[in-house]
Amino acid sequence: MTLPDIKSLTREELEAQFKLWNEPAFRATQLLDWLYARRATSWDAMTNLPKSLREKLRENFSLQILGLARKQGAGDTTQKFLWQLADGAFIESVLIPANPALYGEASDRHTLCISTQVGCAYGCRFCASGLDGWKRNLGVHEIVEQILAVERWNAAQPKEESVEPTADRIVNNIVVMGMGEPLANYDNLIAALKILNAPWGGGIGARRMTISTSGLAPQIRKLAVEPMQFRLAISLHGATDEVRNRIMPVNKKYPLHELTGACEDYQKLKGRMITLEYILIAGINDALDQTRPLATLAKKLYAKVNLIPYNKVEGLPWVRPAEEVCDRFLTALEKLDVTATLRREKGGDIDAACGQLRLKTERELKTQ
Ligand code: SAH
Ligand code: SF4
Repeated sequence: MTLPDIKSLTREELEAQFKLWNEPAFRATQLLDWLYARRATSWDAMTNLPKSLREKLRENFSLQILGLARKQGAGDTTQKFLWQLADGAFIESVLIPANPALYGEASDRHTLCISTQVGCAYGCRFCASGLDGWKRNLGVHEIVEQILAVERWNAAQPKEESVEPTADRIVNNIVVMGMGEPLANYDNLIAALKILNAPWGGGIGARRMTISTSGLAPQIRKLAVEPMQFRLAISLHGATDEVRNRIMPVNKKYPLHELTGACEDYQKLKGRMITLEYILIAGINDALDQTRPLATLAKKLYAKVNLIPYNKVEGLPWVRPAEEVCDRFLTALEKLDVTATLRREKGGDIDAACGQLRLKTERELKTQ
C-alpha cells in the first residue's frame, strides 16, 4: 500500500491528524517548519519531534524528495532541472532569473516553471512533452517538491555559485508551464498551489502564480470561481480554428468560440488580465493574416499577447521564423492597438522548451 505523502496535507488536515493522535497543536507547527522552512529530507532530521511521533509519522506517511537526475545551465542564467520521481519517472522544472515582467510580475524575481504531469495527453503537434503520450498526473507533493528541491539545491551551492547567496529563498514566482496540462490535473494543482501560497508553506503570493492551459474551457470556468487570484495564460498559437486545428488537437474538443466564451466568463468574474501565448512557427501561424483575428480576440478578452519564437524540438519538422518575421508580426499587432511582447528567448540553448530534457534522457536510457 502506498502511503499518502506528508506534503500533500494542508495545515488543517495535519492538525486534525495530530489531534487524533493526541499530539499538542504546536507539534504541527514544528513539523511544518521542518517541511517548508528547513526543507528537511528525512524524518530523522526532525530532532525536536519526539522519536515516538517520528515513528508514527513514518508508519503513516511518506516523505518523498525529488532526486536531481540532471541539470543544464549555470550561474545566473536559465537553469533546467531534471528530477526523478519515486517510481522512476522524470519531470522538469526550469529556473528563470529576473525577467522583464512577462506575466505582470515584478521584474526582480526568480521564476520557477513547474510540471504537473508526466508526459501530456494533449499532443500539440509542436511540443516535446506530448510526444510519448501521457503517463500519469503528479501528486500534490510532487508539484510542491519542485520548489523545495530547487531551494534545497541552491542552499547547497558554494556561496559564489548560488543564484542569490544572500537570499533565504530564491523562487518567488511560479509559472505552471512545464510538462503536462495543469488543468487536466486540476485538484492536485490547486491543492499544491494553496500549499505554496500558505504562510506556513511556500509563502508565494497567488498573484505570482501563472497557470498556463492549452484551452480546457470547462476547467477555465471552474478556475474562475476559485477564491485565489492566480494569473491565467492561454496557449492560443492560432487565432482561427483552421490554424489551431492543425496544430492543437484540443481545439477540436473546445473550438475557439468555446474557449473565448470561457475566457470572457473568467474575465468577468475575476476582472484580471489574461495573457495569450502565441508561439510563432514558420509557415504555420506567422503570416500577417493571423494578426487581425488575433487582435480582435485579444481586445475582446482585454488580453495581452506574448509572442514566443518557436524552440526547435529534435525530431519535429517545425522551425522558428526569421527574426524579421517575428518583428513584423509584433509591429502589425501593435498597429492594431494590442499590447504585445516578443520574447527574446532565454535558455533556447539548453532545450528550454518544455519536455525536451526529459525526452532526451528517456531516449538515451532506452538505447543504453
Ligand atoms: N499544457 C500547458 C502548459 C505547459 S506548455 C499549455 O499548453 O499551456 C507551456 C507553454 O510552452 C505552452 O504555451 C506551449 O505551447 C509552449 N511550448 C511547447 N513547446 C514549445 C516549443 N517547442 N517552443 C516554444 N514554446 C513551446
Ligand atoms: Fe501538452 Fe501543453 Fe505540450 Fe500541448 S503544449 S502537448 S497541452 S504540454
